[in-house]
Amino acid sequence: MTQQKSTLSKDFLNSIKEDLLIRKEKLKKQLASFAEKDPNQEDNYNSDFPEFGDKEDENAAEVAAFEGNLSLEDTLEQSIEMINKALKKIDLGVYGLCEKCGETINEERLKIMPTATKCVPGHGCLKLHKK
Ligand SMILES: [Zn+2]
Repeated sequence: MTQQKSTLSKDFLNSIKEDLLIRKEKLKKQLASFAEKDPNQEDNYNSDFPEFGDKEDENAAEVAAFEGNLSLEDTLEQSIEMINKALKKIDLGVYGLCEKCGETINEERLKIMPTATKCVPGHGCLKLHKK
C-alpha cells in the first residue's frame, strides 16, 4: 500500500463521519434489542438466551432463536467494527484510500458504502490498477 494522502475534502469527510456515527447508533440499538452489552469490552455484545418455555419443542425453538441471534450479533458487531475502523482512518487522515492500490476511492461509492476499504468490491481493483 502506498502512502498517498486522501484527496477528499474536509466537508466530505465530516459528512461521512456523521453518517458513520448515525449508522453505528442504529446498529447498537439493533444489538441492544436482543443482546446485552459486554461491560468489559467496548462495542461487544452477548446475545440473550430466549425463554419460550420448558417443553421440548419450546427448548428447541429457544436454541434455534439463540443461534439466529448469535449470527445476527456477529454480523452487526462486524459492521460496527468496520465503522470504528473507518472513523479511525478519518482521524488519521487516511480515510477513503483503497487498501489494495492506495488510490482515493470514488466519492459516490463512499457515500453509499462509507465503510468501503477498496475502490472496487472484491479484488477487482487489483486488475484496474495493476501496472
Ligand atoms: Zn484499488
